[in-house]
Amino acid sequence: MTVDGKPEPSQVPMRYPPPELDETAAQRLWGKVTKTADCWIWAGYRNQAGYGIIQARLGGPRTRAHRVAYALSGGVFTGDGLIRHRCDNPPCVRPDHLLCGTIGDNVADMVERDRQASGDRSGYRKHPESYLNRPPVQGVKHGCATFTEAEVLAIRAAHDRGESQSSIARRIGRPRRTVALIASRKTWRHLP
Ligand SMILES: [Zn+2]
Repeated sequence: MTVDGKPEPSQVPMRYPPPELDETAAQRLWGKVTKTADCWIWAGYRNQAGYGIIQARLGGPRTRAHRVAYALSGGVFTGDGLIRHRCDNPPCVRPDHLLCGTIGDNVADMVERDRQASGDRSGYRKHPESYLNRPPVQGVKHGCATFTEAEVLAIRAAHDRGESQSSIARRIGRPRRTVALIASRKTWRHLP
Protein backbone atom coordinates (compact mmCIF):
# COMPACT_ATOMS: atom_id res chain seq x y z
CA MET A 1 0.00 0.00 0.00
CA THR A 2 1.12 3.57 -0.56
CA VAL A 3 1.18 6.18 2.20
CA ASP A 4 -2.28 7.44 1.39
CA GLY A 5 -3.75 3.94 1.63
CA LYS A 6 -4.38 3.40 -2.07
CA PRO A 7 -3.26 0.13 -3.65
CA GLU A 8 0.11 0.23 -5.39
CA PRO A 9 -0.39 1.10 -9.06
CA SER A 10 1.11 -2.24 -10.05
CA GLN A 11 -1.72 -4.09 -8.31
CA VAL A 12 -4.35 -2.45 -10.49
CA PRO A 13 -4.32 -3.24 -14.21
CA MET A 14 -4.18 0.07 -16.02
CA ARG A 15 -7.04 0.60 -18.40
CA TYR A 16 -4.98 2.74 -20.76
CA PRO A 17 -1.36 1.69 -20.25
CA PRO A 18 1.47 4.02 -21.33
CA PRO A 19 2.37 3.74 -25.01
CA GLU A 20 5.40 1.61 -25.82
CA LEU A 21 7.88 4.07 -27.32
CA ASP A 22 10.69 3.26 -29.71
CA GLU A 23 13.87 5.22 -30.41
CA THR A 24 12.27 7.11 -33.30
CA ALA A 25 9.14 8.20 -31.45
CA ALA A 26 10.48 11.57 -30.28
CA GLN A 27 11.67 12.56 -33.73
CA ARG A 28 8.50 11.37 -35.44
CA LEU A 29 6.32 13.20 -32.95
CA TRP A 30 8.12 16.53 -32.41
CA GLY A 31 8.97 16.73 -36.11
CA LYS A 32 5.30 17.03 -36.98
CA VAL A 33 4.25 19.68 -34.52
CA THR A 34 3.27 23.25 -35.31
CA LYS A 35 3.93 25.39 -32.24
CA THR A 36 1.68 28.35 -31.61
CA ALA A 37 2.19 30.80 -28.77
CA ASP A 38 -0.18 28.63 -26.77
CA CYS A 39 -0.88 25.10 -28.02
CA TRP A 40 1.44 22.81 -29.97
CA ILE A 41 -0.66 21.34 -32.75
CA TRP A 42 -0.06 17.87 -34.17
CA ALA A 43 0.18 18.34 -37.93
CA GLY A 44 -0.10 14.65 -38.85
CA TYR A 45 -3.15 12.46 -39.17
CA ARG A 46 -6.08 13.16 -36.85
CA ASN A 47 -9.08 11.03 -36.05
CA GLN A 48 -12.66 12.24 -36.31
CA ALA A 49 -12.61 13.62 -32.79
CA GLY A 50 -9.59 15.73 -33.71
CA TYR A 51 -6.98 13.76 -31.75
CA GLY A 52 -3.59 13.27 -33.38
CA ILE A 53 -2.80 9.66 -34.26
CA ILE A 54 0.70 8.19 -34.35
CA GLN A 55 2.48 4.89 -33.85
CA ALA A 56 4.39 5.07 -30.58
CA ARG A 57 6.51 2.25 -31.94
CA LEU A 58 6.96 1.80 -35.69
CA GLY A 59 4.85 -1.16 -36.75
CA GLY A 60 2.96 -1.05 -33.46
CA PRO A 61 -0.62 -0.05 -32.78
CA ARG A 62 -1.72 3.48 -33.56
CA THR A 63 -2.27 5.61 -30.51
CA ARG A 64 -3.17 9.17 -29.67
CA ALA A 65 -0.34 11.60 -30.26
CA HIS A 66 -0.88 13.51 -27.01
CA ARG A 67 -0.37 10.28 -25.02
CA VAL A 68 2.95 9.76 -26.80
CA ALA A 69 3.91 13.38 -26.12
CA TYR A 70 3.07 12.93 -22.45
CA ALA A 71 5.14 9.74 -22.22
CA LEU A 72 8.10 11.30 -24.08
CA SER A 73 8.05 14.18 -21.63
CA GLY A 74 8.44 11.92 -18.64
CA GLY A 75 4.82 12.23 -17.58
CA VAL A 76 3.77 9.60 -15.07
CA PHE A 77 0.76 7.45 -15.92
CA THR A 78 -1.40 6.77 -12.88
CA GLY A 79 -4.94 5.59 -12.22
CA ASP A 80 -6.56 4.29 -15.37
CA GLY A 81 -3.89 5.95 -17.50
CA LEU A 82 -6.14 8.48 -19.16
CA ILE A 83 -4.31 11.62 -20.31
CA ARG A 84 -6.38 14.76 -20.59
CA HIS A 85 -5.94 18.22 -22.09
CA ARG A 86 -6.14 21.14 -19.72
CA CYS A 87 -6.42 23.35 -22.82
CA ASP A 88 -9.41 21.39 -24.11
CA ASN A 89 -7.77 21.22 -27.55
CA PRO A 90 -7.65 17.60 -28.83
CA PRO A 91 -4.78 17.93 -31.38
CA CYS A 92 -2.53 19.73 -28.83
CA VAL A 93 0.58 17.78 -27.77
CA ARG A 94 2.22 20.43 -25.59
CA PRO A 95 3.40 18.52 -22.51
CA ASP A 96 2.48 21.15 -19.97
CA HIS A 97 -1.05 21.22 -21.36
CA LEU A 98 -1.46 17.53 -20.52
CA LEU A 99 -2.25 15.85 -17.27
CA CYS A 100 -3.23 12.40 -16.19
CA GLY A 101 -6.65 11.84 -14.74
CA THR A 102 -9.49 9.41 -14.50
CA ILE A 103 -12.50 9.08 -16.73
CA GLY A 104 -14.48 10.48 -13.82
CA ASP A 105 -12.32 13.61 -13.87
CA ASN A 106 -12.87 13.95 -17.58
CA VAL A 107 -16.64 13.79 -17.24
CA ALA A 108 -16.51 16.25 -14.33
CA ASP A 109 -14.39 18.57 -16.47
CA MET A 110 -16.86 18.40 -19.32
CA VAL A 111 -19.71 19.26 -17.01
CA GLU A 112 -17.73 22.06 -15.45
CA ARG A 113 -16.77 23.47 -18.81
CA ASP A 114 -20.27 23.17 -20.19
CA ARG A 115 -19.00 21.10 -23.08
CA GLN A 116 -22.32 19.40 -23.59
CA ALA A 117 -23.29 22.70 -25.15
CA SER A 118 -21.48 22.59 -28.47
CA GLY A 119 -19.95 25.26 -30.67
CA ASP A 120 -20.68 28.83 -29.79
CA ARG A 121 -22.92 27.85 -26.91
CA SER A 122 -20.02 26.24 -25.07
CA GLY A 123 -18.65 27.87 -21.97
CA TYR A 124 -15.23 28.15 -23.55
CA ARG A 125 -16.45 30.12 -26.55
CA LYS A 126 -18.63 32.35 -24.43
CA HIS A 127 -16.17 33.00 -21.64
CA PRO A 128 -12.62 32.24 -22.77
CA GLU A 129 -11.27 34.65 -20.17
CA SER A 130 -12.59 32.48 -17.34
CA TYR A 131 -10.51 29.58 -18.66
CA LEU A 132 -7.37 31.61 -19.16
CA ASN A 133 -7.45 32.64 -15.53
CA ARG A 134 -8.18 29.21 -14.16
CA PRO A 135 -5.55 27.97 -11.77
CA PRO A 136 -3.83 24.78 -12.94
CA VAL A 137 -6.20 21.87 -12.45
CA GLN A 138 -3.60 19.80 -10.67
CA GLY A 139 -0.23 20.27 -9.12
CA VAL A 140 2.79 18.44 -7.98
CA LYS A 141 0.86 16.72 -5.22
CA HIS A 142 -0.99 14.54 -7.76
CA GLY A 143 2.34 13.08 -8.78
CA CYS A 144 1.29 13.24 -12.41
CA ALA A 145 2.21 16.77 -13.34
CA THR A 146 4.31 17.27 -16.42
CA PHE A 147 7.05 19.85 -16.65
CA THR A 148 7.34 23.17 -18.42
CA GLU A 149 10.21 23.77 -20.80
CA ALA A 150 11.67 26.25 -18.30
CA GLU A 151 11.67 23.60 -15.56
CA VAL A 152 13.33 21.07 -17.86
CA LEU A 153 16.07 23.53 -18.77
CA ALA A 154 16.55 24.46 -15.09
CA ILE A 155 16.87 20.78 -14.12
CA ARG A 156 19.47 20.19 -16.83
CA ALA A 157 21.40 23.33 -15.93
CA ALA A 158 21.53 22.28 -12.26
CA HIS A 159 22.58 18.76 -13.20
CA ASP A 160 25.23 20.00 -15.63
CA ARG A 161 26.57 22.19 -12.80
CA GLY A 162 27.05 19.03 -10.77
CA GLU A 163 23.97 18.84 -8.56
CA SER A 164 22.85 15.23 -8.12
CA GLN A 165 19.56 14.03 -9.59
CA SER A 166 18.20 13.12 -6.17
CA SER A 167 19.14 16.51 -4.74
CA ILE A 168 17.37 18.29 -7.61
CA ALA A 169 14.31 16.06 -7.19
CA ARG A 170 14.16 16.81 -3.46
CA ARG A 171 14.66 20.53 -4.01
CA ILE A 172 11.85 20.89 -6.56
CA GLY A 173 9.56 18.25 -5.05
CA ARG A 174 9.35 16.02 -8.11
CA PRO A 175 9.86 12.26 -8.46
CA ARG A 176 13.56 11.37 -8.66
CA ARG A 177 13.01 8.94 -11.55
CA THR A 178 11.34 11.60 -13.69
CA VAL A 179 14.07 14.12 -12.88
CA ALA A 180 16.69 11.49 -13.78
CA LEU A 181 15.06 10.89 -17.18
CA ILE A 182 15.01 14.62 -17.87
CA ALA A 183 18.56 15.25 -16.62
CA SER A 184 19.97 12.40 -18.72
CA ARG A 185 18.00 13.71 -21.72
CA LYS A 186 16.07 10.48 -22.20
CA THR A 187 12.87 12.52 -22.17
CA TRP A 188 12.28 16.02 -23.51
CA ARG A 189 14.81 15.24 -26.22
CA HIS A 190 13.67 18.12 -28.39
CA LEU A 191 15.20 20.53 -25.86
CA PRO A 192 18.95 21.13 -25.47
ZN1 LIG B 1 -2.81 22.97 -25.65
